[in-house]
Parts: sequence; C-alpha cells; structure tokens
Amino acid sequence: MNLDIAIIGAGPAGLCFARALAESGLRIVVLERQTEAALSAPAFDGREIALTHNSAQLMRELGLWERIDAQAISALRDARVFNGSSLHSLNFNHRDTPQSELGYLVSNHLIRKAAYDVVKSSPAITLKTEAQVASIKTDANGVQVKLANGEIIQTKLLIGADSRFSETRRAMGIAADMHDFGKIMMVCVMEHPVSHQHAAWEWFDYGQTLALLPMNGMRSSVVITLPPQAIDSLMKMPEDDFNREISARFQHRLGAMRLVSTRHAYPLVTVYSKRLVGQRFALIGDAAVGMHPVTAHGFNFGLTGIATLSSEIKAALASGQDIAADRLLLRYEQAHRRHTRPLFLATHAIAKLYGNDSPPARFLRTSALRVGSRISPFKRAVAGLLA
Ligand SMILES: Cc1cc2nc3c(=O)[nH]c(=O)nc-3n(C[C@H](O)[C@H](O)[C@H](O)COP(=O)(O)OP(=O)(O)OC[C@H]3O[C@@H](n4cnc5c(N)ncnc54)[C@H](O)[C@@H]3O)c2cc1C
Repeated sequence: MNLDIAIIGAGPAGLCFARALAESGLRIVVLERQTEAALSAPAFDGREIALTHNSAQLMRELGLWERIDAQAISALRDARVFNGSSLHSLNFNHRDTPQSELGYLVSNHLIRKAAYDVVKSSPAITLKTEAQVASIKTDANGVQVKLANGEIIQTKLLIGADSRFSETRRAMGIAADMHDFGKIMMVCVMEHPVSHQHAAWEWFDYGQTLALLPMNGMRSSVVITLPPQAIDSLMKMPEDDFNREISARFQHRLGAMRLVSTRHAYPLVTVYSKRLVGQRFALIGDAAVGMHPVTAHGFNFGLTGIATLSSEIKAALASGQDIAADRLLLRYEQAHRRHTRPLFLATHAIAKLYGNDSPPARFLRTSALRVGSRISPFKRAVAGLLA
C-alpha cells in the first residue's frame, strides 16, 4: 500500500487529524487496534470533555460539531475552585469574557462517534481496524509500517496518535517525561436535587479532590481523585451505599446524589514527550502532551496541535514542498510546545500543591486562593484562558 500519511491511533486526535487533511488531495490511512464495532458505536467512557470556544470552532470546521445532538452539549458558564472544607470559592465568571459561557461540555464517546462518522464519509481516508503494528521504519526517503499480518504500508509521513502511553513514540526512540501521581480518578454521572447553575467545581478537599462538571438537567459528571484502594472500594460499592458515600463526600452541598451511569477509573499519569517530532514523524494528541485533567485541556491542546500541523502540511502542499520536511515538523514542534508547556507546568504545580495536606501546604493553599480571588485581572485572564 503506497499512500501519503499513516496515522497510528483512531482516538479523537488521530481521527480529527485525518479529517483535517481529508480534502487536501493526500491519501491517508489510520491504523487502529480496536474493532470497527468499538469505533463506530463507542461506549460511554465516563469522560465529559470541557471544550473551549476555539475547540468548538475547530470541531465545526472539521464537521464534528453538527453531528453532536445540541441537547447533548451543555454550557459551562462559570467555574468555582474550593479549598478544604471552606465554603469560600475562587470564581471564574463568563461575564469576565465576551462570551455567554466559558465553554461547553460534551461526552467523550459522542466526540469519538462524530469523529468516526466524518472519517468514514471521507473517501481519501482508509481506516484499518484490528491493525497490529509489527514494526516502523522512517528514513530520508519515506516511512514503512509493517503490520502483524505481513501487510506493508509505505508513506511520506507517520503520525503517532496512540495515547499518552504511545508505543509508536517508544518505537521511534523518543523519551517522555512521565509523572504518576499514584492516584486514580473515578468518573460517573449523578443526579442531584440542588442545581449546579451550569458552574463547574474543582474542590481541593483535604484527602480527596472532587470535581463536578454541569450537564444539562439536574445532573453532573462527578470526578473523584483518591488513592487506588479507596477508588477500588468506590467502584465495587453497592449503588445505595455509593450514593450515600458520594453525597457525604460532597458535604450534601448538592443534596442527595444518585448514580445514573456506569463508573469508570483512570490512572492519574501525565506525559510530556521530550520531542514532538522525528524523521518523517510527528506526535499529536495525548501521545505528544498528556495533560492532568484538572485544567481540562488535553483534547483542547490536541485540537490546536492538529490545526497547527495540518495547516503547515497544507502550506507545504500548496508550494510543492515535502509534507514531512524537517523544518516543517520543527515549526510544528516549536509552536505546539509554546502553546502547551506553560499550562502543563502550571497545572502540575497546582496539582502538587493542592494534593498536599501538610500544615505549610494548607496555609499556602488558602493564601493562594484568597489572593487570587482579590485580583480581578488574574480572574479575567484565567476566565479568558478557559474560554
Ligand atoms: C477523566 C478524564 C477527563 C478529561 N477531561 C478533559 C476535558 O475536560 N477537556 C479536555 O480537553 N480533555 C480532557 N481529557 C483528555 C482527553 O480525554 C484526551 O486528551 C483525549 O481523549 C486524547 O485523545 P487521543 O486521540 O490523543 O488519545 P486516546 O483517546 O487515548 O486514543 C488513542 C487511540 O489509539 C489507539 N491505540 C493505542 N495504541 C495503539 C497501537 N499500538 N496501534 C493502534 N492503535 C493504538 C487506542 O485504541 C485509541 O483508540 C480528559 C481525560 C480524562 C481521563
């Protein structure tokens, strides 16, 4: 098989990248190890993805947005940050931005489904499911991907979009800074009698971190971060006990909460690849930058990276240049690093400070929040960043 671009991984990043180049005249293959059935009807995975206005616009341009039922898109108007047991919160308000909301919330499985559908409707893209990559080789002349069934795919450019634990990144000899927080996040949807007023909560309580993402109606996506044994017990807990336990963990601020979905657990591991490109090779999505979910920017960064790299490739095509030239890939790396690195580092610092319950850290946590809430330009800047 002789094509232009091979993408390993048909997650939201790999599929959106393929779609971004679907009308460029390039022939693209996406290699995914899951089955076609799993991709065409993705199961609910617990993740509610907070999307910025910029991401919503990029999804419109890719044709994903209109494939998502408007009723399934929830407005994210405000954000509140709580510390310990205090009722005082640092508030980020949509009124500090020109928009009527900071962003939107959409279930990850709906994003995956929309991305699959747009790819399937693009004749220039071939999707190979249940594909096992046996080896990859890139040199100055091209890329060769060998599949376990013996098939050989030759292209000009290879893209690694195979998650934060990317095997493609490792096979290309690229190291990554990985940080395991030693904690697990449990996500599920819960109904509650007290309205969330479309505000997201990030609650750095002592001994646990709670987040609440407002969905349409009287329901929210609940995210609880705890050590593995505590999450294991929550995952197995009978539903009535679970409802009581979560209502109590939220100090009944939302009334009696009730589980209305399956529960899902994710290890809290962040990744920043040492390099984002190699010879005829680029990393995108979580394979490039695997964010801590506390600032809700993983897929948002994935989309901006896709926009940057795909427009570089389109410009190269328009001027008859190599779509995998070193200089082109380097420009992508520099731009994506500039865009992602500051928030990646800031998120780490916040997660470390607010995950620390020692007396000096408690003092710093409270002081930082109080100072932040008094500085209007800071709040406006963060609200602008969220939006
Ligand atoms: C609890 C939680 C909440 C989140 N909330 C937000 C949020 O609010 N906002 C936000 O922007 N982001 C959020 N994120 C991050 C977001 O979910 C990710 O950034 C996004 O899903 C990454 O997409 P991806 O395509 O890069 O990787 P993935 O979704 O991991 O997809 C990778 C794909 O590659 C395939 N694959 C892996 N290895 C191979 C291989 N060797 N060969 C072939 N295929 C392979 C996999 O099967 C999969 O289909 C959250 C994440 C979590 C865990």
